[in-house]
Amino acid sequence: MMAAHTFDIVILGGGSGGYAAALRAAELGKSVALIEKDKLGGTCLHRGCIPTKALLHAAEVADHVRSAASVGVLASLEGVDAAGVRTYREKIVAKKFAGLEGLIKARGITVVSGSGTLTADHAVQVGNETYTAPDVILATGSYSRSLPDLEINGRIITSEQALALDEIPERVLILGGGVIGVEFASVWRSFGAEVTIIEGLDHLVPNEDETLSKGLERAFRRRGIRYELGTRFQTAVQDDTSVTVTLENGTTHTGDYLLVAVGRGPATADLGLEEAGVAVERGFVAVDDMLRTSAPGVWAVGDIVPGLQLAHRGFLQGIAVAERIAGLSPVPVPESQIPKITYSNPEVASVGLTEKAARAEHGAEAVDSYEYSLAGNGKSEIIGTSGVVKVVRLKNGPIIGVHLLGDRVGELITEGQLAVAWEAHPEDIAPLIHAHPTQSEALGEAFLALAGKPLHAL
Ligand SMILES: Cc1cc2nc3c(=O)[nH]c(=O)nc-3n(C[C@H](O)[C@H](O)[C@H](O)COP(=O)(O)OP(=O)(O)OC[C@H]3O[C@@H](n4cnc5c(N)ncnc54)[C@H](O)[C@@H]3O)c2cc1C
Repeated sequence: MMAAHTFDIVILGGGSGGYAAALRAAELGKSVALIEKDKLGGTCLHRGCIPTKALLHAAEVADHVRSAASVGVLASLEGVDAAGVRTYREKIVAKKFAGLEGLIKARGITVVSGSGTLTADHAVQVGNETYTAPDVILATGSYSRSLPDLEINGRIITSEQALALDEIPERVLILGGGVIGVEFASVWRSFGAEVTIIEGLDHLVPNEDETLSKGLERAFRRRGIRYELGTRFQTAVQDDTSVTVTLENGTTHTGDYLLVAVGRGPATADLGLEEAGVAVERGFVAVDDMLRTSAPGVWAVGDIVPGLQLAHRGFLQGIAVAERIAGLSPVPVPESQIPKITYSNPEVASVGLTEKAARAEHGAEAVDSYEYSLAGNGKSEIIGTSGVVKVVRLKNGPIIGVHLLGDRVGELITEGQLAVAWEAHPEDIAPLIHAHPTQSEALGEAFLALAGKPLHAL
């Protein structure tokens, strides 16, 4: 028998975007049904941000032990215990998952377990039950894509299987030098593997400012991470123990596994979108600035919306939609104000325009930039990292891009984001002193230099 349930808001998908919308809507007094077919928290909590950052932390510890003697601490790395790393990673995820479930419950949100499809009249069907609301939010997330003729099976894996590996591979190939490929390369190298990245474009992290890409390539070379750039994948053949990849330039590479990290596609198939009048473009849900789809009362947030596929963008969008439904008017945040971090060793972090994009958008003569090497920064020297801070501004105008490379610099990007989002001029920030000795001083030095008063620089 069919049963119908009515709420103020029905949300399809309980990942970063969906659960943020649910939390904010409940806070604003709305009754919410949150429909999830797997686990609340979605990709980020269970298969993405959190478990990969736990792996990267274990990798960092291994690196520190290896280099302990350089700071006078006697220690030796006996090895990395894959089972121990798994236990640590799973414990972190379990704790965050329990916390999220508690929060959802405490806000009085109704969680529905099951796979939902949208129907034409503001309803989501889950089995025999129908959940109806004046506003429906789509937040079904994304999946790991592959290339045509490259089937994921056996030793050809995506980040999901890579996370679940019970061994530390000896030799691993990674297809794709974007965020996910670079982070796994960093982890596996720290755990002792031979790593080769294959990237069709001319640089690693190709969406970043070239200064960061080139700096990361140098750092990876020093770490013994191999990469082939500007050459495309042709075929992959596997047997019981290995995978061999042939590239279009004729070279071949063999590894225990091939990690396919070529991007993520929107999870929008079989959701009933077309029937419900929700326009889809290349699989993504088309939305306006307010995140409204083409179907009145149906909204979309997170990875199914074209743009940066990041958890904090999902949070931001989820909150904004909940507030709009509740009659508030949150300001839309442009993609250029969303910070991005690649948590490899070294880290890559940025917000705003690259120098190249700034020159293309504003004209070369309107743009100024400054690079401050972390070699001049005391704290970076102490923790043994090199790298760079690069700030891009409009001449006599605001800061429009901040780009960082080095260990731990991800924590600094928030200041870059404030500068870019508030359209601060370097002259505004230059008098605001950064605590000494911190890595944030490097950012301060770049602002000082762009304001015409460099301190520890010429
Ligand atoms: C390896 C990896 C590392 C990452 N690291 C980072 C990082 O460090 N920082 C960062 O910001 N981002 C990171 N991301 C990206 C981040 O995970 C995503 O941007 C984020 O999870 C998107 O949130 P979402 O709500 O759009 O989708 P998801 O988190 O994918 O959630 C969608 C949810 O909807 C559910 N669902 C789908 N269809 C249905 C249906 N029909 N019925 C019911 N439920 C359904 C799914 O089960 C899922 O739980 C990483 C991703 C990966 C893969």
